[in-house]
Amino acid sequence: MAGDSVEAAGERFRQAAQQGTLHNLQSAEFAVPDIAASDLVRWAYDNGMVNTRDGRAVYEQLLAAPPEERCPLCGHGVVRTLDHFLPKMMFPALCVDPLNLVPACADCNHVKGESHPTDAETTPLHPYLDRIDQDPWLEARVADSNPAWLDFFFSPPPGWKQILIDRTRHHFELFGLARLFAVQANRTVNNIRQQLTAMLNAGGKDLVRAYLVEEAETRLADRLNGWEGVTYRALARDDDFCSGAFAA
Ligand SMILES: [Zn+2]
Repeated sequence: MAGDSVEAAGERFRQAAQQGTLHNLQSAEFAVPDIAASDLVRWAYDNGMVNTRDGRAVYEQLLAAPPEERCPLCGHGVVRTLDHFLPKMMFPALCVDPLNLVPACADCNHVKGESHPTDAETTPLHPYLDRIDQDPWLEARVADSNPAWLDFFFSPPPGWKQILIDRTRHHFELFGLARLFAVQANRTVNNIRQQLTAMLNAGGKDLVRAYLVEEAETRLADRLNGWEGVTYRALARDDDFCSGAFAA
């Protein structure tokens, strides 16, 4: 019903998210009265937002997120904005709902734009609702050693439901994570090439590998699916790379 309270809209949003049916939500059910866009936030507060438990505090906390925080959509970019998970043009009643405000880097915000989920399989992962980082899902292998180029890919952990596998794969492709991570990995190798060459000369491939393994373990302990740790792990596993292909 048009003009429904923000609270009711938020409730419908949460229920659909929980049931995996965000793609079925109808824009018409999230309409607001005919008011100027500049008044939308105030309207939302007046119609339930301030009554939503902890709503305002969460919103302000989100806006005050430290600038160095990583974008949860790509796991790499610097947070620049709050992205509307369901676009505010179609779902204005959710425009200040904390669960619909996702910190994002400029690139991911741009990629997502005003798009909205149209089916279950292509619904992007929601950073607060779809927590996937307790399982290892990011893998990489060395495609080229010099210039360094790694193929990053999504490797579904055992036990995952098919829908989560489909959504993660779609998310990975939508935000161009394979290329983003490969570019970063290339820079990383450029930064350590001299160091690796010195190690190779001093102690051979075993020394190079031991160094890469240690760097991988430190980083993976911090972020299981971070591109940094996955990069070092992939380099360590590649015999040609450790044997000096990086210097060729
Ligand atoms: Zn991002």
